[in-house]
Amino acid sequence: MENFNNEELKTHLKILQELGFEEIILDKEYLPSEEILKEKKKMLDLINKEIQVCTKCDLHKSRTQAVLGDGNLNAKLMFIGEAPGEEEDKQGKPFVGRAGKLLNKLIQKAGHKREEFYIANICKCRPPGNRTPTLEEMETCFPYLKKQIEIINPSVLCLLGATAGMAFLGRKVKITKERGEVIKWQDKILLLTYHPAYVLRNPKEEETLFNDIKRAIEVAYTGL
Ligand code: SF4
Repeated sequence: MENFNNEELKTHLKILQELGFEEIILDKEYLPSEEILKEKKKMLDLINKEIQVCTKCDLHKSRTQAVLGDGNLNAKLMFIGEAPGEEEDKQGKPFVGRAGKLLNKLIQKAGHKREEFYIANICKCRPPGNRTPTLEEMETCFPYLKKQIEIINPSVLCLLGATAGMAFLGRKVKITKERGEVIKWQDKILLLTYHPAYVLRNPKEEETLFNDIKRAIEVAYTGL
């Protein structure tokens, strides 16, 4: 059995309590990491159930399904985009269209696999015509992402695009100027970079996106 961080356990227990669990029986000082994974999955499944019927903003009207997220529930690094696109809305997974393929390619080029990380969006429902979500829509949906972050507990959040940056920083982000910046956010490190969809339109920026992704992975695994 592995040791694990007590603070992590406290956070998980607090979230379970908030989600309505009344009793948690622990017969040991700690749980095996397999158990932690099961609990994380359970908690995320509950959030997924909530978002599938969520009508808190108008984006529910045009969705096929809400898209929670995908990947390693113990990831040290989480990639966060703005909202599902057409393919994501169809398949129920984030970053599975052309932008997702580019993201996968650059992660692989850095010597890693997409499955090592967790991928999600600020808004869980596809905006009509793939428009940018409004600030109000992002603010309404943000608590779901916050819960995901609490459950998965990565140390680094790589924000893909100005819109994701704006949702976290609460102000407009000039991504061409601010990309590559490392910002402290609560107990996490935020790293801003381009959205892969932007790079598909501006292929000369692919190397820059690659370097930012590589850096985010290095910071997640070895620290700043
Ligand atoms: S985008 Fe978020 S807040 Fe809006 S309906 Fe979908 S799940 Fe609910």
